[in-house]
Amino acid sequence: MEIRNKLQIYNSLSGKKETFVPVVPGHIGMYVCGPTVYSNVHLGNVRTFISFDVIYRYLKFLGYKVRYVRNITDAGHLEDDSEEDKISKKARLQKLEPMEIVQEYTIDFHRVLDLVNNLPPSIEPTATGHIIEQIEATKEILDKGYAYESNGSIYFDVLKYNEEVDTYGKLSGRRIEEMIANTRELEGQDEKRNPQDFALWKKAKPQHIMRWPSPWGEGFPGWHLECTVMSTKYLGEQFDIHGGGMDLKFPHHECEIAQGKTLNEVDPVKYWMHANMLTLNGKKMSKSTGNYLLPNEIFSGNNKILSKAYSPAVVRFSMLQAHYRNMLDLSEDALQAAEKGYKRLMEAIDSIDALPEGSKSDFEVDQWIESLYEAMDDDFNTPILIANLFEGVKFINQVKSGKAQITKEDKEKMKKAFNDFAFEVLGLHKSQQESGGGKNQAFDKVIQLLIDMRNQARAEKNWALSDKIRDELAEYGVILKDGKDGTTYSFK
Ligand code: AMP
Ligand code: ZN
Repeated sequence: MEIRNKLQIYNSLSGKKETFVPVVPGHIGMYVCGPTVYSNVHLGNVRTFISFDVIYRYLKFLGYKVRYVRNITDAGHLEDDSEEDKISKKARLQKLEPMEIVQEYTIDFHRVLDLVNNLPPSIEPTATGHIIEQIEATKEILDKGYAYESNGSIYFDVLKYNEEVDTYGKLSGRRIEEMIANTRELEGQDEKRNPQDFALWKKAKPQHIMRWPSPWGEGFPGWHLECTVMSTKYLGEQFDIHGGGMDLKFPHHECEIAQGKTLNEVDPVKYWMHANMLTLNGKKMSKSTGNYLLPNEIFSGNNKILSKAYSPAVVRFSMLQAHYRNMLDLSEDALQAAEKGYKRLMEAIDSIDALPEGSKSDFEVDQWIESLYEAMDDDFNTPILIANLFEGVKFINQVKSGKAQITKEDKEKMKKAFNDFAFEVLGLHKSQQESGGGKNQAFDKVIQLLIDMRNQARAEKNWALSDKIRDELAEYGVILKDGKDGTTYSFK
């Protein structure tokens, strides 16, 4: 199959949109930095993963064979300026095994991404599963002379790299002289020759829980190295796309470039992509500052910020109404507007089949379909795609009210285009609450019927039957709740 090749991607490295040309024709290797699994993902994290999910979906939709690698950071991510990694610290404070922490939050991460209808990546490697590769890479960088040992830890020599290999700071636009001028002295930094140097391997202090033997004694790998090792292991020394949130550009991705280029003498990544931040009250959503909302809190309505619950599909839709490179502020107004828009879109899609067929169409359907591609080809512009989809909605509603005509053939074309772009590319999905019809509606009616039967059984004091209905539904994950206004149901 011929792949449409009009895709323009904004490359953070060049600061411009570039025509996308894959390293291997027809194939794409894409790496996205995954979460550090020491706490629940917040909606900011979710936004970044939705952004890259849509990118992955569109590349696949175009016909590329995409290998999408997204790691799980389960070791090595240091807690700010401390000498302890985030997972070890939490394990120590909670008196748990580090892998219990990792398990709990990895499950939560997968559950949340599943709820918002993200596709799983092709490979999801963990840092702890690649300790040997990280030790090997550290050895190689040492052998090449771009790292040094200090007190059992190994540091990357940034100044030497900057002088002899490539400009350190070329991705983030920072100049090394300025970095040096602006750094303050930090505890433990006396081990480093220069404050910009970063750890490839850290010696584990006696209280540090996660530790592995190495040629330099017991320790643990540096965070930046895991991404270099896992991306190149699964995607090759140079691959197509590397993504992550804007906040990872420096130092994390800058360090990845330095490590990759030192190891393999080639720039590891052709297109660097950075997703912008989700803000709350105008400030970056972040665990450490306490300015965050958890996915569960928005899906259940159980929070102080919003007046009601919003379904995962509406949350996804509202996030896609902003371009991935723009900031987005989470607000009730935006969510309400998204809920309305989402409903309008779903209703229009559901009504296509029943539209009366005319002898001509008062709408340029082919041109409209091309506009859907064009929006996505322009650096994955989802807000424009959504606006263009609504042009189609407007026309469908005109046909519905008898103000315009559509042919049978165009009906089929529009139905396919909505299916392709709303469901396959944007990954919108109908969740229980807002479904307009089909299986979900039938499911809803079946549960209502069972609720009625249970109420009748209770009125007749047939407790055995009423309990059976409640308990068996619970077994299937449907929880009944008796309230002032009757019985409602939710999913476990
Ligand atoms: P972390 O687990 O902190 O490494 O974050 C996982 C991903 O979420 C990274 O790509 C971060 O850049 C991204 N991220 C963190 N905070 C936000 C935010 N407020 N908005 C969007 N993405 C974020
Ligand atoms: Zn990374």
